Amino acid sequence: MLIRSFNPPVRTLMGPGPSDVHLRVLEALSRPTIGHLDPAFIQMMDELKELLQYAFQTENALTMPVSAPGSAGMETCFVNLVEPGDKVIVCQNGVFGGRMKENVERYGGIPVMVEDAWGEAIDTGKLDETLKTHADARIVAMVHAETSTGAQSDVQALVKLAHVHDCLTIVDTVTSLGGTPIKVDEWEIDAIYSGSQKCLSCTPGLSPVSFNERALEKVRNRQSKVQSWFMDLNLVMGYWGEGAKRAYHHTAPVNALYALHEALLILREEGLDSAWDRHHYNHLALKAGLEAMGLTFIVKEADRLPQLNAVSIPAGVDDAAVRSRLLNEYNLEIGAGLGALAGKVWRIGLMGHSSRAENVLLCISALESVLGEMGADIKLGVALPAMQKVLESN
Ligand SMILES: *Cc1c(COP(=O)(O)O)cnc(C)c1O
Repeated sequence: MLIRSFNPPVRTLMGPGPSDVHLRVLEALSRPTIGHLDPAFIQMMDELKELLQYAFQTENALTMPVSAPGSAGMETCFVNLVEPGDKVIVCQNGVFGGRMKENVERYGGIPVMVEDAWGEAIDTGKLDETLKTHADARIVAMVHAETSTGAQSDVQALVKLAHVHDCLTIVDTVTSLGGTPIKVDEWEIDAIYSGSQKCLSCTPGLSPVSFNERALEKVRNRQSKVQSWFMDLNLVMGYWGEGAKRAYHHTAPVNALYALHEALLILREEGLDSAWDRHHYNHLALKAGLEAMGLTFIVKEADRLPQLNAVSIPAGVDDAAVRSRLLNEYNLEIGAGLGALAGKVWRIGLMGHSSRAENVLLCISALESVLGEMGADIKLGVALPAMQKVLESN
């Protein structure tokens, strides 16, 4: 077989990530590679840290991108903070809370689960009860934006509760950073991680993390070595740390970091408040169109994420056939259900650069057209006007 250069099709990405990447970010990625200890690169890293601190709304000195996807940010938080024997309360209301439990077990901790139904927010009352019955718990872990269901939890309230009981907190904001408000310092989040490819609209493969002093104190005073050499913050800080001369730890993904720098710059130029508003309004437009068609959200209105819209698949409709027609005929990707929701829902993402009026329009019209042709039980001819009305009112 003759192998040629790979030229991907141009798609509109409205799934659970990656999201559409801005041309400015792709262009940044293609700039000349330089050494990862080059003074020019080090300066870029300092700016990158400042941009990340803005995105997270924190002054934490340890704020940096882990050189690997969101899952590695998750592992970085758990492997550094969980010591063998530590009791860790994990709030689970979807797929990603389950992965947190896996992390705790693999690093020798004892997970205590607080479970809520998929599609619901984490119940603060249940966490409170669990904290009271497990007074020896050291850490509480939670997912802010459950990408598997589209539910958002009240991280500020959950973190506050954890602190009343003297627990550190680990918060997953892979899908929320840049899309919905996160205020690391104001909410006193101890350890947080995110991903580059969701509402930051960078290419996949980087995971911003931030640790406050309380969390770092636990890392520095561990009885045993961090089980992962690569993710041991005591070592990584030698490269990303402030002041002291930067030492080689691993070769930074140089060009990927240019891309993240550009993506974060775009976010700062727009401003966090404007970005959050944009995600909110485009969600309202999408919602108006979907609901007019007769589709229903699985998450109750108050807990819905604007950037991840999970709707039930209408009865009798072939899930995979719809998604493949959208992809092949409209170059439009939407997400399938994950875990317990596989085959039951579609997950329509409006993340970062994908959260645009023209994408809402494409999604609503393509979905209506495909579902209509397949004879699905939906209302025809009403979705676009309903959507347009919301777009005009913003
Ligand atoms: C996508 C996602 C992750 C994992 O990120 P990867 O970059 O795929 O490793 C973790 N948590 C949540 C909530 C996510 O949406």
